Amino acid sequence: MSAAETSASLRPESLPDAAGHFGPFGGVYVPETLMTALKELGEAYDAARRDPVYQEELNRHLKEFAGRPTELYFAERLTQHCGGAKIYFKREDLLHTGAHKINNALGQVLLALRMGKTRIIAETGAGQHGVATAAVCAKFGLQCVIYMGAVDMERQALNVFRMRLMGAEVRGVEAGQKTLKDAVNEAMRDWVTNVRDTHYILGSALGAHPYPMMVRDFHRVIGREAKAQILAREGRLPDEIVACVGGGSNAIGVFFDFLEDAAVRLIGVEAGGRGIVRGEHAARFEGGKLGVLQGSKTYILQNPDGQIELTHSVSAGLDYAAIGPEHAYYRDTGRISYAYACDDEVMEVFQLCSRLEGIIPALESTHALVEGLKRAKALPKDKIVLVNLSGRGDKDVNQVAKLLGVTLR
Ligand SMILES: *Cc1c(COP(=O)(O)O)cnc(C)c1O
Repeated sequence: MSAAETSASLRPESLPDAAGHFGPFGGVYVPETLMTALKELGEAYDAARRDPVYQEELNRHLKEFAGRPTELYFAERLTQHCGGAKIYFKREDLLHTGAHKINNALGQVLLALRMGKTRIIAETGAGQHGVATAAVCAKFGLQCVIYMGAVDMERQALNVFRMRLMGAEVRGVEAGQKTLKDAVNEAMRDWVTNVRDTHYILGSALGAHPYPMMVRDFHRVIGREAKAQILAREGRLPDEIVACVGGGSNAIGVFFDFLEDAAVRLIGVEAGGRGIVRGEHAARFEGGKLGVLQGSKTYILQNPDGQIELTHSVSAGLDYAAIGPEHAYYRDTGRISYAYACDDEVMEVFQLCSRLEGIIPALESTHALVEGLKRAKALPKDKIVLVNLSGRGDKDVNQVAKLLGVTLR
């Protein structure tokens, strides 16, 4: 029996195990100097999640500051356009700061306060996690340092300005490719040095234990709400749920409470970039190999020598060489299936959704939408496809205009 088959019978709630493993994936692959910090964090989180006072406070801020619950929205004109299954959106794009990221930022900042930390650090790629973290730090009066690759800072200058407006210090990273992976390295270096007063808020379901579990738990609210909402509205569960997968936090968040509903198909969508050619995409399940990156064992895009492969996607938030370990696990058990969407399809559907629904989706979320529309077309009218709209596209309009050859001024 394979490892995946043995563990397929495990309840989702029992994963990861105490050492942070999802079957053969996950774990804690970090330097000795970080082991103590991760252990302290794991224990603090364990106590917090059992504490009704912490949970109540988190729920209050999710409502008052972030804007939860988010709507479950029937996308009527896209449904008509496809002519098949009913399409629903889970509107995470309506959250404060524009994406699901604030669910995790709030959870971790409240945890850091419990732990007596006064300084917050985080990495950011496109800047969405940095903006969410900066906002929550401003709210709670915490010092905030965001690490961001120098290349990303240039591409996402507006988000750099937003973070600075909210009082965060944004530090440019000049190492490596000067993008997300390099920013994570820099943040980990900072954490090793300043662990006494500093908490590191990782932005996706990635990295060493307890991060993949903790970040997942903070986003489970998406699926929990969606389940209650679709039951109230349709009197039954959806047939398929589709979400985009960068590190995997919005996807595992919306999927988790449906993992044991065997009739509900769960589909994660990776970035197919310019097509499945080495260096031109970020679809880890299309040729990625088992390896260790930034603390966790999982599928990683790497060259034959084991060096991390260059990746590309039109959406910065999906442009990362590794996938969260829990996704690797459910891919191997077969419970979640994975597809990819390419840049050109994403550009089309970005415009289609804007025109037909009056909703401009994030380029990341548009990947889920591409696959969701394909599936809705192939299904009869009495079926339901739920797409997690992880964020709004305001941050992307400059880039899209440029790609379409539109001059804004
Ligand atoms: C960051 C981001 C993603 C990708 O991150 P996950 O951890 O895979 O969810 C997806 N959508 C939006 C809008 C984002 O900002």
